[in-house]
Amino acid sequence: MVDINEIKVVSFDAEGTLVTPDFSYAVWFEAIPECYAERHGVNFELARKVIEEEYQKLGDQRLEWYDVRYWFDKLGLGTPDQVMERCESKVRYYPEVKEVLASLSERYKLVVASGSMRDFLNHLLQDIEPYFTRIFSSLTDYKQLKTSEFYLKMCQAMEVKPSQVVHVGDNWQFDFVAPREVGIEAFYLDRKRQTNHQNSVASLLQLKIHLEG
Ligand SMILES: [Mg+2]
Repeated sequence: MVDINEIKVVSFDAEGTLVTPDFSYAVWFEAIPECYAERHGVNFELARKVIEEEYQKLGDQRLEWYDVRYWFDKLGLGTPDQVMERCESKVRYYPEVKEVLASLSERYKLVVASGSMRDFLNHLLQDIEPYFTRIFSSLTDYKQLKTSEFYLKMCQAMEVKPSQVVHVGDNWQFDFVAPREVGIEAFYLDRKRQTNHQNSVASLLQLKIHLEG
């Protein structure tokens, strides 16, 4: 399936793949409503309701939706840095992550290809950053979601051909369909084992088996 002798770069999505959603959840649904409640003198439940409505009104097709600075500005909450630091205790890696990265990094260049903004990635990846040669944020670096064009730009930046890259991630469109459109060998990470596709893996350990032959 994968010709591992040709592969030079292994690319990972961040949230849902390396790191659990806990940190982002804490920022969007706990810390931001808390700040809003304090700033506007309302209770937490009301603040959360107001904020969830604002998130929905904008919608996840707009790039601002992912931009924590946009939201702090819009909601009159100042700057997000301290709030995000306070949430850092919520950063959790999936159990197999460090072992897989340590092992694969002996043979391949590892990169992160994430749709999260760099503000988030700085917090999310801090314990595992040394394993990666580059960290790409489609939104911060290229002002787009993870499209096939983004993956091509990533290959250009790494000076490799798409056929020399393997990507893995937990979003069918952004991590499987889009990279395959440009010829990257992609694996769909299905931690809940809801699919039975030949290129789906239930954990990163399974990916490691594919890549270590
Ligand atoms: Mg993901």
